[in-house]
Amino acid sequence: MSPTEALRMTKTVGEYLLGGGAVSQFEKVLRGQVDERDDRVVYLIDYYFRDGALARRLPLKPADTILYIDTTDEPTTEAIDKLVADLRPGATVKAIVGIGGGATLDSAKAASNLLTNGGAAADYQGWDLVPKAGVFKIGVPTLSGTGAEASRTCVMMNQAKNMKLGMNSDHTVFDRLVLDPELTATVPRGQYFFTGMDTYIHCVESLAGRYRHAFADACSHQALRLSREVFLADDMLSPENRENLMIASFLGGSAIGNSYVGVVHPFSAGLSMVLHTHHCVGNCIVMNVMDDFYPRATEEFRRMVDVHAIEIPRGLCRDLSEQKYRALFEATIIHAKPLANALGEDFRKILTYDKVVEIFRLM
Ligand code: NAD
Ligand code: ZN
Repeated sequence: MSPTEALRMTKTVGEYLLGGGAVSQFEKVLRGQVDERDDRVVYLIDYYFRDGALARRLPLKPADTILYIDTTDEPTTEAIDKLVADLRPGATVKAIVGIGGGATLDSAKAASNLLTNGGAAADYQGWDLVPKAGVFKIGVPTLSGTGAEASRTCVMMNQAKNMKLGMNSDHTVFDRLVLDPELTATVPRGQYFFTGMDTYIHCVESLAGRYRHAFADACSHQALRLSREVFLADDMLSPENRENLMIASFLGGSAIGNSYVGVVHPFSAGLSMVLHTHHCVGNCIVMNVMDDFYPRATEEFRRMVDVHAIEIPRGLCRDLSEQKYRALFEATIIHAKPLANALGEDFRKILTYDKVVEIFRLM
């Protein structure tokens, strides 16, 4: 890639409120945007928090709307369209707040763009297709690792087109964030590990790629350092490590807007499309068998798994039908950008059908 081709505008989150207990000072991030009592704010909150204790810490007004988001399945374009249809009636939405893991953050980003741009979620899946800024959006991660709080995309499954793709746009970036590490204290250990590893894997892939960017490299190096500190420690969930992971996730998400992932994410997307495996556990299943591509990171990953006695699912692709292997191959190889980033433009010569199936069988 020539230096001019590599030059492009990009965007990161401009303002954030960081620190334990920050969510209790939520009015600070509304300031300047939501000042009148009848300015309507929509809060999309992961259904884990549906007992209402977290909502009671927010400066709620009668004009506001709270919706609890069921994150059993990853967001689909249909689910986002339905969500937006539910939000349209009533007063204009002045701000939209996503409180949760990657699924809830992505739902808030997508809904924000659709409320001002109209149309359907699928219309904007791709690169730079969102014409206008969305509704003012605030992200509050309660689970660290995907980097969705910092990235310029929001990933959705499009069942009709059999693909998983985001609205990659500067308009998708949150306007403000609340980074409160106390919110991740309740995440179950397995989930904490799987989602946290998304950052580690993003950074490994980005730093091993051909397409490089000094800003992305700097963020990735720091995020990797923090991830190692967290996942090689005995207590990955200590308050200090939860704060470290929250920052690693933010840096990892900032890096990825300026670089590409590599071999792991395409294979994980294959698992996700064909077997409905969730993104982060899928990445870990793939990372566990990446000896040919990322030998040192694979070894280090297994050490982290051992330290925390994490059970990585195995055997899910051992005995599938020819048709399923074909579908897995297609859903993997379609991700040309990251695969070329990792292996060069001739990646299909390395990732032949037989090689791809062999890798899936190892999982
Ligand atoms: P998630 O949002 O799917 O949530 C996973 C589980 O954790 C859910 O059951 C949820 O209820 C629970 N949970 C969340 N916070 C909790 C808390 N504090 N305590 C207890 N339980 C809690 O998980 P994720 O791994 O953060 O996100 C995955 C999603 O992120 C996928 O949809 C993926 O496509 C997307 N993603 C987006 C980007 C991006 O840049 N936009 C990047 C990577 C992944
Ligand atoms: Zn990821």
